[in-house]
Amino acid sequence: MFSYRHAFHAANHADVLKHITLLATLRHLQQKEPGITLIDTHAGAGLYRLDGDYSQKGAEAADGLFKLLEAADDLANLPEPVQDYLQQIGHFNSSGQARIYPGSPALMARLLRQDARDRLKLFEMHPTDSPVLAGNMAQLALGRAVQVSREDGFEALRKLLPPPASSSGSRRAMVLIDPSYEIKSDYAKVSSSIQDSLKRFATGTYLIWYPIIARPEAHELPRRLRTLANQARRSWLNATLAIGKGQAGDTGLSASGMFLINPPFTLAEQLRTALAMVGPALARGVGKGWQVETGSP
Ligand code: SAM
Repeated sequence: MFSYRHAFHAANHADVLKHITLLATLRHLQQKEPGITLIDTHAGAGLYRLDGDYSQKGAEAADGLFKLLEAADDLANLPEPVQDYLQQIGHFNSSGQARIYPGSPALMARLLRQDARDRLKLFEMHPTDSPVLAGNMAQLALGRAVQVSREDGFEALRKLLPPPASSSGSRRAMVLIDPSYEIKSDYAKVSSSIQDSLKRFATGTYLIWYPIIARPEAHELPRRLRTLANQARRSWLNATLAIGKGQAGDTGLSASGMFLINPPFTLAEQLRTALAMVGPALARGVGKGWQVETGSP
């Protein structure tokens, strides 16, 4: 079960799509005053070295972040979500070289508002990555605003929703569900977890990452999520990024998607602008492309 280590994949094209979407969503939610409960059900290790052995010296980043950086010579002229993403990565790399990659926990932790209004709940089950995550988060010294647990993220989510009310009485939550899908049952768990979450807390913002691969469960997942959103009368957004075929013999992941329920109303346009730059920058060959679809009740 624990053969997956995100360190091997950090900063690949899937992380680029996922983390641009995550940051743009959180930025929008933080335009409103009340605090937010941020939940990352599958958190990973939090920070990754891109020049270390685990990342095979950044092999997957070469088709993701590194290619984007090459294309992005002038930060000021980039679409805002891409600019923000690269700036956030820059905060973890004072040398100017992208050696450290912040995963979703580190990106969200950096954006927590100073007065402890926002809370970050991180779940990671891997026996090695969970203590590494705890250590990485402790370094950020954010105190009780960040909580790391070595628990099943799907189970934990049931206990956390609905989130506690803020001082103004409103309940707000943003949930990232980002499994490795190394076991087939993850697909069904994602759907049942969303179904349950929408019953517990219909107004939460849910972000689900999924791989686009030749597997019926993977193909079915975004359709199922769309059905669940429609049944619950919630708006949704589905963004996909495919970098196309690699060199002969390359069997690695070449496409993935982010499915959101209750996305910010500005997100579709922001992602279209971002992917119009990111898509061509990362494109390799046959099968490349990107799409942003939306639906509302
Ligand atoms: N969200 C991270 C990011 O964007 O930086 C990457 C997460 S990685 C794709 C998936 C992680 O989920 C792996 O580290 C894996 O060990 C962990 N995991 C697998 N099953 C889990 C479960 N049921 N609950 C919590 N973590 C789990």
